[in-house]
Amino acid sequence: MHWADVIAKSIAEKAEKPLIATGISPTGIIHVGSLREAITGESIRSAVEGLGKEARLIYLIDSFDPLRRRYDFLPPEYEKYVGMPISRIPCPCGKHNNYAHHFVQPFLDAVDSLGVHCEIIWTSDLYAQGKFAECIDLTFKKRKEIINILHEVSGKEPNPDYAPYEPICEKCGRYTKPIFDTYEYPFVKYNCSCGHSGTADIRKDDGKLTWRLEWPAKWKIFGTNAEPFGKDHAAAGGSYDTGKRIAPEIFGIEAPYPVPYEFVQLKGVGQMHKSLGCSVTGLDAIRMTPPEVLNYLFLRVPTNRAIDYDSGIGLLDVADEYDRMEVAYFTKEYDEAAENVVRAYEIAQHNHVPEKLPVQVSCRHLVNVVQLADTFEEQMKVLSRTVDISKATEEDMRRIKKRCECIRYWLNTFAPDMVKFSVRQTIPQHITLETLDKAFLQTLVQRMNDCNWDAETINNIISTLGKESPLGSKGAYKLIYNLIIGQDRGPRLGPFLASLDKQFVINRFNQAAYN
Ligand SMILES: [Zn+2]
Ligand SMILES: [Zn+2]
Repeated sequence: MHWADVIAKSIAEKAEKPLIATGISPTGIIHVGSLREAITGESIRSAVEGLGKEARLIYLIDSFDPLRRRYDFLPPEYEKYVGMPISRIPCPCGKHNNYAHHFVQPFLDAVDSLGVHCEIIWTSDLYAQGKFAECIDLTFKKRKEIINILHEVSGKEPNPDYAPYEPICEKCGRYTKPIFDTYEYPFVKYNCSCGHSGTADIRKDDGKLTWRLEWPAKWKIFGTNAEPFGKDHAAAGGSYDTGKRIAPEIFGIEAPYPVPYEFVQLKGVGQMHKSLGCSVTGLDAIRMTPPEVLNYLFLRVPTNRAIDYDSGIGLLDVADEYDRMEVAYFTKEYDEAAENVVRAYEIAQHNHVPEKLPVQVSCRHLVNVVQLADTFEEQMKVLSRTVDISKATEEDMRRIKKRCECIRYWLNTFAPDMVKFSVRQTIPQHITLETLDKAFLQTLVQRMNDCNWDAETINNIISTLGKESPLGSKGAYKLIYNLIIGQDRGPRLGPFLASLDKQFVINRFNQAAYN
């Protein structure tokens, strides 16, 4: 059984309307791993839905976390915001409500394009609404038990000064420590290192729980049944281990079904975003990977297996694999070993599996098409020379368009040079043709004039004539690539020439042959 089905089954047995929680800390750039979390959550949600039950997926934005340091991509004046909640720090570009919105909004727009059906919840709002008050109150009353749990689970010395709750200084705006014995619901006093002394109201956004307490408090607020989280939280003595005990012993609830996932490693990385100090971001991955393929990439392996996100040729390989699984799903021709990957294809559709096999256009082929035309209309004109899209449905066309956009983004960013080319408007000047070359081209034009303009025929003609000529087929290919794109190598020649206008190609060869 696919892992998403195993989890869905387990939580659907326990809850009438299971709730799956997932989250993100928008303190900086969004990593590809965050996509794994979103897609894992969505796949559990849609698997529960597939069982005939309603399910809720919430996306918790940790917008009340402090800015931990001034990251390299932030201007020097952000130094003064370190230690303040990110919902109260201005956005670096001036266009968003605050720092948290700035970093997470583009990601949320993009997650939406992946078909993730979630409710967005800002942690800063939950504090302002007093949702945490009951749990904060409990942490003051049971602070000794909490210290003991942390000591027992982590194996570290008990810390008698441990503060599960940190008020925000009303003067300097930074998190500080409470004076425990001044607590009397709902107020606690503090002395901030800036010199200010004040009082925080736990029913307001005057402070927050520290992570190890905030996480199980969220489980209690929402009644979470399952939650995916990065493996760093799953380490022995880590925050899931402590949360698992805090949940029943402090908050009187059961911990959710844990779904720890392995990290995503980046492979085939070509370019760096200099300002961000990293290569491929989560947004890049969304912009260059068709959504159905990205979903599939995260669903095809168990959550505890590391995933390589390959921004090079591997991107085309996984897209091809997706297309093969789609065929397998509709033809039902696959063996037992492929059951889970075919099911991964199905889950990747979020319960909107097409009724029949869609008109498939491989990303690999679109790499050629996109480089031959700029607008989508022109691209479809080019595509129709090699693929019958006359029967494509609106949904098929929507998907092809999305794939074209992704491939365009990829070509502009991380695609390796070997797949890039541009068709020359005239014969490149560096080419000098020998008599042998001209003779080959003359015969080629003769044969092409009345041939069927499809990839296979074109390929057969060129390789046959090439072998008959002293050029050999290698020499023939090299000559043709040079005449059209000014390079020794290029995309697979048959489909490539078939994608070009027949008269354009013949004219180019004629011009060269009789010059
Ligand atoms: Zn902004
Ligand atoms: Zn202060």
